[in-house]
Amino acid sequence: MTEPTPHQPDKPNQASPGHHVTEAQLSLSSPTDSDSPLCAICQSGMGGTDTATLALACGHVFHAGCLHQWCHYAKDVCPLCRQSIDLNVAFGPDVRCWRVQNIAVPTRCSPESIRLGLRPTGWVNVQLQVLPPPGITIRAIRYVFHPAFSLNTLSIDTAPFDLVVKLCSSSVTVVIDITCDNDEKFALVHTLEKEMCTRNFFEPLYNGAPDPSKPIDPLTYFSQLLSVYRRAPDYYSKEMQPPARFQRRRQPRGGRSGSGLMRFLGGLFGADQL
Ligand SMILES: [Zn+2]
Ligand SMILES: [Zn+2]
Repeated sequence: MTEPTPHQPDKPNQASPGHHVTEAQLSLSSPTDSDSPLCAICQSGMGGTDTATLALACGHVFHAGCLHQWCHYAKDVCPLCRQSIDLNVAFGPDVRCWRVQNIAVPTRCSPESIRLGLRPTGWVNVQLQVLPPPGITIRAIRYVFHPAFSLNTLSIDTAPFDLVVKLCSSSVTVVIDITCDNDEKFALVHTLEKEMCTRNFFEPLYNGAPDPSKPIDPLTYFSQLLSVYRRAPDYYSKEMQPPARFQRRRQPRGGRSGSGLMRFLGGLFGADQL
């Protein structure tokens, strides 16, 4: 810091949230000014002991919570200088980064589905892929679907653990319940979207739950919606086979990598759904 302004306290880190901010101070954020009093993401002060801060490799400092949410939406570059962020080192060894890639391509409704009364246009195939942090191996993934789906859960215990669904209408939420090779578990909430998207989930600080401080229980996450969608109270606790017309579509297709690529093209929506 070379030219302190008249309004700047001697120790900028002690600025209170209500501290008056001038434009001169806003422009002070730079790698050589790592003790800037402002978080550039939320534009409020970083003083006091109630909010943790994090410094990136480039030297820029932000509220830890602001940076987690910034990086959650796949913005893994510094908000100020756009230097790339290595998510698996930026937040320290206790916070591991899971990445969920959600790639959607427009598709047509099959003649079979049209005969079942589903709408002919507006469909996309969404392929969902879970990428674990370094050193973590997935043993099994259970997808817990929003009660609008005609499936309650889907368990996959063979790599790759990709899920492919045919989606129409609006975006739909799914809970991803992951069991690792070392028996650790991690659950996160993801939204299947028509648009291409990638999200990062930070364990244990931010996993997409409404309250980041509380872990997700996949079986109860949607329970408050069961009556809304006319599902039985034990909807998520009972075993359910996919509808017969989709069973044959679960057969592995030749020519793909391995036999585990799970395809659910079409049919996760029944007539009484979204
Ligand atoms: Zn902030
Ligand atoms: Zn930076």
